[in-house]
Amino acid sequence: MRWPSSLFSTVSYTERAGSLSSPPPQSADIETGPLIGLDGRESNHAAHDMALATLRFYEELNDYLPAQMRKRDIAVHFEPPCPIRHLIETQGVPHTEVEIILLNGVSVDLEAPVYDADRVSIYPMFEALDVTPLLRLRPGPLREPRFFADAQLGRLTRYLRLLGFDTLYENRIDDADLVQKATAGQRIILSRDRALLMRRDVSHGCHIRNDNPMQQLSQVIRRCDLSRVSRPFTRCMECNGPIEAVSKQDVATTLEPETLACFESFWRCGDCGHIYWKGSHYERLQRLVTAVLNDAR
Ligand SMILES: [Zn+2]
Repeated sequence: MRWPSSLFSTVSYTERAGSLSSPPPQSADIETGPLIGLDGRESNHAAHDMALATLRFYEELNDYLPAQMRKRDIAVHFEPPCPIRHLIETQGVPHTEVEIILLNGVSVDLEAPVYDADRVSIYPMFEALDVTPLLRLRPGPLREPRFFADAQLGRLTRYLRLLGFDTLYENRIDDADLVQKATAGQRIILSRDRALLMRRDVSHGCHIRNDNPMQQLSQVIRRCDLSRVSRPFTRCMECNGPIEAVSKQDVATTLEPETLACFESFWRCGDCGHIYWKGSHYERLQRLVTAVLNDAR
């Protein structure tokens, strides 16, 4: 029989309170949520309070684990029942990075309860493998990939806009606001911060693991399969607005005479008015676009 955790705790409290050799437990001993530890780790709970499950992380999810725990079964003590989400995130893996969970061989969602002796297999996004019989954690990719980048990702934001992807960025925004705006706009949150992605209200997110903005861009393109849907040079790198072609006459009063003398075609951001033309800057960006898209294919 499976006991609700509150009842289970009460039973263990009664047993321990009756023992002469141990002091009565503090209230924290009764009220605490699941305590997780690797096999053998000390715990405030007596061993008989705890259930033991086996977790196994696959592929790049192992990168989040300490070296000695990678690519092997991990024994985890906890107070049952415990949602799978909690067991996974206590190991340092944000739920946004997980795509498929098998509980004793059956695919389940993040809130599925884990009990004693359960076995949990955790997989990242599948690139090519056919997983249609399994339950993906999310209904599917958002129809049109749109992003909200956290404050540490200013360069990545500009690069994504360069490729035509709708990407919002505010460098002074708190986590709750960011999540609220991203969710309301059906945007994928891009973040260097694992704690942000572990928030319960985050549905679509991508943990950016690299410091280098170009490598960050490659990671997002591969993870979200963006290489075939990019539309380079259609979006303003400054403000995310749409860019439209304008006549030379329209921008004649704004630009330097040398620029007007050398170029015939111009584009302008519909939102902030920033003007673009195919100068040396453009050639550098064109090389960047080609390199990063080839790399992702
Ligand atoms: Zn703009």
